[in-house]
Amino acid sequence: MNENVFEKSVEGRRGVIFPHLDVETSEIPEWIARKSPIGLPSLSQLDVVRHFVRLSHKNFSVDTHFYPLGSCTMKFNPKINEYAGSLDGFINIHPYQDSTQVQGALEIIYGLENALGKITGFPHVPLAPNAGAQGEYVGVTMIKKYFESRGESRSIAIIPDSAHGTNPASAVMAGFKTIQVKSSDRGMVDIDHLKQLLTKDVACIMLTNPNTLGLFEEDILEISDLLKKNGSLLYYDGANLNAIVGKVRPSDMGFDVMHINLHKTFSTPHGGGGPGCGPVCVSEKLKDFLPYPKVIKHPEKGTYQLDSSREKSIGRIRWFYGNFLIILRAYVYIITLGIDGLQKVSELAVLNANYVKERLKKIFHVPYDKICMHEFIISMKSIKSDHGVTALDLAKRLIDDGIHPPTIYFPLIVQEAMMIEPTETESKETLDHFITIMEAIYADILKDKAKVQGAPYNTPVSRLDEVKAVKEPKLTV
Ligand SMILES: *Cc1c(COP(=O)(O)O)cnc(C)c1O
Repeated sequence: MNENVFEKSVEGRRGVIFPHLDVETSEIPEWIARKSPIGLPSLSQLDVVRHFVRLSHKNFSVDTHFYPLGSCTMKFNPKINEYAGSLDGFINIHPYQDSTQVQGALEIIYGLENALGKITGFPHVPLAPNAGAQGEYVGVTMIKKYFESRGESRSIAIIPDSAHGTNPASAVMAGFKTIQVKSSDRGMVDIDHLKQLLTKDVACIMLTNPNTLGLFEEDILEISDLLKKNGSLLYYDGANLNAIVGKVRPSDMGFDVMHINLHKTFSTPHGGGGPGCGPVCVSEKLKDFLPYPKVIKHPEKGTYQLDSSREKSIGRIRWFYGNFLIILRAYVYIITLGIDGLQKVSELAVLNANYVKERLKKIFHVPYDKICMHEFIISMKSIKSDHGVTALDLAKRLIDDGIHPPTIYFPLIVQEAMMIEPTETESKETLDHFITIMEAIYADILKDKAKVQGAPYNTPVSRLDEVKAVKEPKLTV
């Protein structure tokens, strides 16, 4: 059937018929009147509904497809979160309402701050940042202020070569220079190199643990010791906590400040540019610089209010109090699972990743092959040199098989990288299905590689020129 709504257009056909006017008409002023037709098709309401529902079915989503993205955890969002996020009492409040009328909402903000404080071991947890990257910016800006307040002019942030690109970007925006510390053959921070870099000018290191290779930083205590002896602080990129929630606390590893992505670890919707939430978790040392407003609880009355009286604060970082309905969803996720449930999440996330890794390493090269955390990397480097098939080809072919492609070409230190993160909620059957598909693709690489190199074949459009699509978007037919 013809799916092109422009070709289906029939002059005069309508989706909505308005009642006859019962007021006088007036002319539209020339200067705002449209000069040429808008070019939309004329369709019935049913045509329009079918068009958009059909388009929505062409999407990949966690609710429809296996989505082992890697780095940006795409986990199932339990529907009870959505139920809470649609309750009248939450969706029909306004940030300008007096705090006495929104005690429930303030209690939820306070409750999530406490829960994340327990999970990470930090006493202060402002929730306002809109995304992980904004949380990073807030965290490193607090580090900057901390050194300024002590009259120290430390200007350098050390960042591993495996870090997420937002780390150097946030550090530079906060006014730091960045230098890179190398990874060792084991995929860990190269301690000897780190020692060479540690001068009195180093304000902080920004570390991701488990790192972007999916490995737990084994020397973390030695690293934090070295930094502390140097008078520097430690920033923890906690965008992806899926392997460690309820298992180990960044504060115990010696960190001073971190951010978390609720839209990754804590099951709030993720994608399409937001809305997200990147809470910052802060040690006592940095307390004075916390952004405002902060929700405080009256010690006797037990009531809540917003407090903005902070002298040395880095200031307000966005309007009102962040993405409240996202905060609410994450809170529901945490209280429905409880600490036992969260620990189980971590265990299953790690188990699933290791299961898939152990099966796939028989055919694909796993460059850092040891027990991984919630994700792992394969490299298509040798397959590319032997057969000319790249990580991009593999990713595109997975689309044909109904699987959202994992992250590719990241981290930058692995050539032809594909980063696989199955997440905790997938069943063994789904994981086995994925492995079978990867095996079938490998068989095609050996026998009939056009089936991989030219993929996807089953989509409305095949290979797009991705740069051109960004530079010259084609928004009309
Ligand atoms: C996703 C991610 C970020 C950035 O988070 P956004 O919400 O996308 O800004 C930072 N670090 C790591 C390791 C990430 O995976």
